Amino acid sequence: VANNLRARCEESNKHFVEKVAKMVQSSVLGFPRMGKLRDLKKATEAYWGGKLSKDELLAEGKRLRLEHWKIQKNAGVDVIPSNDFAYYDHVLDHIQMFNAIPERYSKHGLHTLDEYFAMGRGHQKDGIDVPSLEMVKWFDSNYHYVKPTLQDSQTFKLSDDPKPIRHFKEAKDAGIVTRPVILGPVSFLHLGKADRNQTVDPISLLEKLLPVYEELLKQLKSAGAETVQIDEPVLVFDLPAKIRSAFKPAYEKLTALQGSSGPQLVLTTYFGDVVHNLDVVKSSLQGTYAFHVDLVRNPEQLDKVMESLGPKQVLSAGVVDGRNIWKNNMKKSIEIVESAIQKLGKERVIVGTSSSLLHTPHTLESEKNLDAEVRDWFAFASEKTKEVAIIAKAVTDGPDSVRSELDANAKSLQSRATSKRTNNPDVKKRQEAVTKEMHERKSGFPTRYDAQKKQLNLPLFPTTTIGSFPQTKDIRIMRNKFTKGEITPKEYEEFIEKEIRDVVAIQDELQLDVYVHGEPERNDMVQYFGERLDGYVFTTHAWVQSYGSRCVRPPIMVGDVSRPAPMTVKESKYAASVSKKPMKGMLTGPITCLRWSFPRDDVHQSVQAQQLALALRDEVVDLEKAGIYVIQVDEPALREGLPLRAGSEREKYLSWAVDSFKLSTAGVEDSTQIHSHFCYSEFQDFFHAIAALDADVLSIENSKSDAKLLKVFIDEAYPRHIGPGVYDIHSPRVPSEQEIKDRVAEMLQYLKPDQLWVNPDCGLKTRGWKETKEALSNMVAAAQAYRQQH
Ligand code: GLN
Ligand code: ZN
Repeated sequence: VANNLRARCEESNKHFVEKVAKMVQSSVLGFPRMGKLRDLKKATEAYWGGKLSKDELLAEGKRLRLEHWKIQKNAGVDVIPSNDFAYYDHVLDHIQMFNAIPERYSKHGLHTLDEYFAMGRGHQKDGIDVPSLEMVKWFDSNYHYVKPTLQDSQTFKLSDDPKPIRHFKEAKDAGIVTRPVILGPVSFLHLGKADRNQTVDPISLLEKLLPVYEELLKQLKSAGAETVQIDEPVLVFDLPAKIRSAFKPAYEKLTALQGSSGPQLVLTTYFGDVVHNLDVVKSSLQGTYAFHVDLVRNPEQLDKVMESLGPKQVLSAGVVDGRNIWKNNMKKSIEIVESAIQKLGKERVIVGTSSSLLHTPHTLESEKNLDAEVRDWFAFASEKTKEVAIIAKAVTDGPDSVRSELDANAKSLQSRATSKRTNNPDVKKRQEAVTKEMHERKSGFPTRYDAQKKQLNLPLFPTTTIGSFPQTKDIRIMRNKFTKGEITPKEYEEFIEKEIRDVVAIQDELQLDVYVHGEPERNDMVQYFGERLDGYVFTTHAWVQSYGSRCVRPPIMVGDVSRPAPMTVKESKYAASVSKKPMKGMLTGPITCLRWSFPRDDVHQSVQAQQLALALRDEVVDLEKAGIYVIQVDEPALREGLPLRAGSEREKYLSWAVDSFKLSTAGVEDSTQIHSHFCYSEFQDFFHAIAALDADVLSIENSKSDAKLLKVFIDEAYPRHIGPGVYDIHSPRVPSEQEIKDRVAEMLQYLKPDQLWVNPDCGLKTRGWKETKEALSNMVAAAQAYRQQH
């Protein structure tokens, strides 16, 4: 009997081993942290507000992690990530775990959690006053990470009880064996910077940092982690030689541990192709157990990547989009994975999400108001986990094993492709009729400027604001009541008109030169327009983390975009009717509408931008007809759309992005003045694109940067007008008249007096009225003083 039993055991063991070998695993690179109802945001903010204890916040985090692991487990995902969870940001987690904490945070003896939040968002309490570390965009996404900020004398030390190990054990205790995710050493350093007054080159710290990684990997292995996901997303950038050559020493050390004292490493890249760095992959990264590439963004890289793998190295194929909300095209994904299997064999392929799912909303289940037709086209994070599992099963056991799922998928895709909501023949016709001439104003700037002088009669150093005035509690309450149907449209309209009259009166008092209506009717600069355009849909719960506890809910572009009716004319016209100075109309530009939405994945973004541009063009022309002769088209997102790598892709983007702006604004008479606004001052690297917009007036953020940045305008003989922000609007601090004068004096070193506008850095919606009035009053006084002198 015993023999028999043992034989049967061995038999089934053999089966198991064979099965695993022939099985294509499904994997998720990371899951959103916030929870179904932004639970983490609520808990964290309650903790910051003193309404939740540390233990309660930690317990909530634990509850969410478990919930998210279970979602993936129940979806049938084989490889489930851990340590993807963060209370604020995962890069910040690493800063703390490596003890790369600047002394200004560590010296107060704060509890680790408070020290962590102090770095993320600053700390102003109990006599401690430190601003946060710098936070910047995570690649080309709308997520922001905290920049590792390093010292000349930097040392690293692994924290006691590191979080990846804690969370791995936590999942294991719940019966789920996970694959911990860590950010790789080269990316960690390359994404960092020297602290202020420090000169250290981050990558020079690699040798000091590696022992900490070795220690971490060993501890993970002892805790039972067989594989670890190590992210090196900087491989999608154009990398300087010293960064490229850093991979070899780093991964020689880390791969040497694999299998013995350390886990197998799955090295991941995402958000771009790695073809330009494949020599690095070949020379330095073939030793990792697996290599992951983003085949949603760059499917064409597959063959070249496969040629560069080591003889046993596994390919992790990212085929389910971590950056958008569309249902996967499973037929296409299966084809991609099959082609990899043909070359490498089943045992050398893993199916995965293209990147972490962090950039997608939690679940479609929460959307109760979406109409059934479009709902059927979407997959949020929870649904995507199922997609990964289905694709893996299809290539493991054959498509018949998931026939009904594949059929349903094909049906959804078919419905989307043929839907009236996707395709609007009128929009297509209009796009076909777009000509080159439609992108150009009637005359060049000098002629336009003469006409505008007559039309607007503005003084030298004209003053204006960027659009929004403080969005008071009153405004939010009324908007809420209106949305809920508690007040009538008429009551709401009257309220908005009163708000407009009030801000006009304030601008009279302040003696500004070009007025704005204050944007009281706008919830958000993109959503407001999306709600008024055909081709968009909105969600109720599809939040995505932007930074820390802040989430955004991008509208979704589902089909060809068009404008059924004017969107802003009523408010602007009313505002103009009650003001004696020129009223500036205020629109969000095509690229910003596109970038801050979930775009379509079935037509090129340039096509979507052109549709938005045509809709906005009609709006611009209608504003002009209504007597609005200054029109600002905001494009704060123009820069973030810039492809990560220099070269032809970037040039192509700039060309269609600039075209869409020009198409949206060029329909007006010479005498109408077109403004544009950007919330950043770093445009040295794409100055020619900014210049090509041909806007009569540009307002840019400048108050916190060196005025020298403006030098590019003289160097390039920029002929048109510019309003570099004269004060920072992110803080309630009121700049004095003298400070503003000094700032203007600096600007005049680089710009001609008749070229310069005087305005704040950006809109004032997040400010209070008191500081807004004081600051603007000082700003106007400074401009008037210069006017006297010239
Ligand atoms: N017009 C917008 C405002 O004033 C511009 C906002 C922005 O550039 N982010 O709020
Ligand atoms: Zn701005």
